[in-house]
Amino acid sequence: LVRLRARLARSQNVFGQSLLGLLSSDRLDDEAWEEIEDTLITADVGVTSAAQIVAGLRTRVKVLGTRTPEEVRRLLREELLTQIDPALDRTVATGPFPGRPAVVMVVGVNGTGKTTTTGKLARVLVGDGRSVVLGAADTFRAAAADQLETWGSRVGAPVVRRDEGADPASVAFDAVARGVEEKTDTVIVDTAGRLHTKTGLMDELGKVKRVVEKKSQVDEVLLVLDATTGQNGLRQARVFAEAVNVSGIVLTKLDGTAKGGIIIQVQRELGVPVKLVGLGEGPDDLAPFDAETFVDAILG
Ligand code: GDP
Repeated sequence: LVRLRARLARSQNVFGQSLLGLLSSDRLDDEAWEEIEDTLITADVGVTSAAQIVAGLRTRVKVLGTRTPEEVRRLLREELLTQIDPALDRTVATGPFPGRPAVVMVVGVNGTGKTTTTGKLARVLVGDGRSVVLGAADTFRAAAADQLETWGSRVGAPVVRRDEGADPASVAFDAVARGVEEKTDTVIVDTAGRLHTKTGLMDELGKVKRVVEKKSQVDEVLLVLDATTGQNGLRQARVFAEAVNVSGIVLTKLDGTAKGGIIIQVQRELGVPVKLVGLGEGPDDLAPFDAETFVDAILG
């Protein structure tokens, strides 16, 4: 966790430090406040949240009068935390539940890191002594199932797959059926990320969910979003959120971007908490999202 925190800090510090620098400048005039707002927008905080943060800070700086660097840091910390909402429930429902496996569906556009996240999450659970079955329901690309198998053998979780072109829902069903039979704690289903039509996507994900519910229940639908894709990624994420009832967001590739402000925007836009963050390509590079740790990493 300490290592992950350091990595997060490295990528986000640019943003936090320039904000602190701007806020500590001698003259906080309209132009300076505008620059502060621009810095927030550049970090993908989003226009609405950036305006709110600046308005909040402006008022408090005015009321407080004096502005020592410590004070400025504390005010900014509080404003950022308000936007991220530390009170949101960010637990991932991975079971175990009595008499049935927990089922986690992983959804999102191709290339965002779905398969990698599935593998990393399995690694965390197996490391915790849980049994995990992986379902390769992205049947449109054989490479996706191969990639999941690599992860499965790496972390010690069996993978249920079928031939390319098979019905994704039937693979999900098989995976959950195996989980029930073997009394597995958690089944993680990696789904296809084709963005064809919204109705197509809804039908497909809806069917996976319905079929899984014949055997167990879908406890968590994690939407994977690539932090480096900004507005475009957010737009695509919205299509998924409309197609399926998303319960949590996994924000990946935060290690490679100073645009961590996307966390604020994605929660606001989709109304769903960020639960996990991806901080690298390795098996241990997945961390639970914690608002305070995140803000402290930003502010250095
Ligand atoms: P999928 O198509 O959504 O299943 O995406 P993949 O899991 O295949 O990931 C796409 C690429 O992103 C791969 O090269 C992954 O190694 C990489 N990737 C996934 N998560 C992260 C992350 O948190 N950080 C970084 N740097 N790369 C990641």
